[in-house]
Amino acid sequence: MMKGKKIDLKDVLKSDKGFLEWMRQKVQSEEYRALKIKAEKGPHPTVEILYDYILDWADSEDAVEDHIEHCGICIEEVIRIVRVERELQDILLECADTPLSSGSL
Ligand SMILES: [Zn+2]
Repeated sequence: MMKGKKIDLKDVLKSDKGFLEWMRQKVQSEEYRALKIKAEKGPHPTVEILYDYILDWADSEDAVEDHIEHCGICIEEVIRIVRVERELQDILLECADTPLSSGSL
């Protein structure tokens, strides 16, 4: 079965600019606003589910993605997690570049 998605939220989230552009287009539509009100009433996925969604791009559930797309609360959480993950990755890369000083462990 083909996945007939209008947008790929994961691609959008890879860049802040792309996300803002996507968000701006979204909020201009009446349909989006109606869905947003509905989504924000909950229930919301847990932070663990959001983490899984972000870390396991390839294998996320459509229901989760659908909710995140329309929920301002969860999208903020997703953005926060993506930023933290990105910073962590930078730190890890920096550490990998720095030779270990002798005497550690
Ligand atoms: Zn939500």
